[in-house]
Amino acid sequence: MNYDSNALLAWVLCVQARLGEERGHLDRLDAEIGDGDHGSNLSRGFSKVVEKLQGASPGSPAVLLKEVAMTLISTVGGASGPLYGTFFLEAAKAMGTTASFSPEELARCLQNGIAGIQRLGKASAGDKTMLDALIPAVDALATHGSATDAARSAEEGLAATIPLQARKGRASYLGVRSIGHADPGAASTALLFACLAKAGS
Ligand code: ADP
Ligand code: MG
Repeated sequence: MNYDSNALLAWVLCVQARLGEERGHLDRLDAEIGDGDHGSNLSRGFSKVVEKLQGASPGSPAVLLKEVAMTLISTVGGASGPLYGTFFLEAAKAMGTTASFSPEELARCLQNGIAGIQRLGKASAGDKTMLDALIPAVDALATHGSATDAARSAEEGLAATIPLQARKGRASYLGVRSIGHADPGAASTALLFACLAKAGS
């Protein structure tokens, strides 16, 4: 598998389509431990992303992910917009002018994205956030070179958020009452990696 601009564009298109289908489910997860807007937030953001990318000539992977980032930051309300936006922006910065990435090389760029999320949101693994799916997914991509493995790890990370107590974000206001629910951001991250597994060429 290799990831060039076309593969990354296919990734983004898959995410937008799947968010359209999963929006209600993600909103319901967020309604349990937050304010019920996570699916709507992201679906709106990725629809805007696709609108912007359509018709434009596909630039380098870095240019493409920067566009994704800036659009998410400017159109998605809530915590997840700036956090996912920073993820894509910092990943793009690590890409330089390279035209195509192996899974391991892409993982290194995504690790830069994770560092950006952690600088901004100050969360760690185990705080019941998107990071609990994202960190194992990117680790799997880096060590096994397989987006299918990464997608599986994201799903496992999502399931592992259920017994956790939220220590960051809106869900942390619930204290122990956040236990027993899946984190919506970890669920959207699992969706992101399910799409990545389909997108390589
Ligand atoms: P809001 O909570 O502002 O309504 P969303 O509902 O769109 O924003 O996103 C909520 C998700 O954002 C959570 O499920 C969690 O995964 C993620 N999140 C919240 N705060 C943080 C943080 N500090 N670091 C990483 N992820 C976070
Ligand atoms: Mg919310």
